[in-house]
Amino acid sequence: MTEEQAHRALREQLGVYALGAGTADERAVVRAHLEGCAACRAELAELTPVAARLADVDPDRLDEPPAPPPGLADAVLARIAAEGTPSRRGTAPRPPRSRLAAGAVVLATAAAAFAVGWLVRPTPPPPPLESVAVQVSDPDISATADVVPHTWGVEVKLSGSGFTAGEVYRVAVLEEDGDAAPAGAFLGTGPAELDCNLNSPVLRTDAEGFVVVDASGAVVLSSEF
Ligand SMILES: [Zn+2]
Repeated sequence: MTEEQAHRALREQLGVYALGAGTADERAVVRAHLEGCAACRAELAELTPVAARLADVDPDRLDEPPAPPPGLADAVLARIAAEGTPSRRGTAPRPPRSRLAAGAVVLATAAAAFAVGWLVRPTPPPPPLESVAVQVSDPDISATADVVPHTWGVEVKLSGSGFTAGEVYRVAVLEEDGDAAPAGAFLGTGPAELDCNLNSPVLRTDAEGFVVVDASGAVVLSSEF
């Protein structure tokens, strides 16, 4: 590898280095190059403050979609804009791709790596679905249901068809003590398949089943857990 190739390869590593990432070996190689290369030292000096802002991103908040650290886009854009401004004296020809523009690319690469890291982060397993049997009292209706235990109550996932189009159906979760807790309502869609999630504040351990009641108050579907 020529000196120039080594320099270019190292420049691509600077964003990672500025973020404090990379293996000990990789970091040692970058450090060794920095000792002999003023251009890369200057580049690193410019990357460091922006990298510090990237590093401020709280990993505990990574369940939220990744947002670029405040000011990062502005900082990068401002640097690109500054590059495009002709020199006041207007005498020296500008290099086709300057140090600053390359720096913006390095940062964009680091930001992309950050986003990819978010995308491939370990995801928690989906909540357990418990399939429950349903009985229908209207032959037009066919339905299946699953329940999901949550810390805040139980969720009923109801799928089916044959609920009269435009009619409001109310759902209630039945408790051990005989009470029925409202769990929401849905609009019938006729022969079209509907999927709805109904939430109730009854804990799964206290829930004994649920019922779907039509507009006239008749139970059209019931389930015992
Ligand atoms: Zn260099």
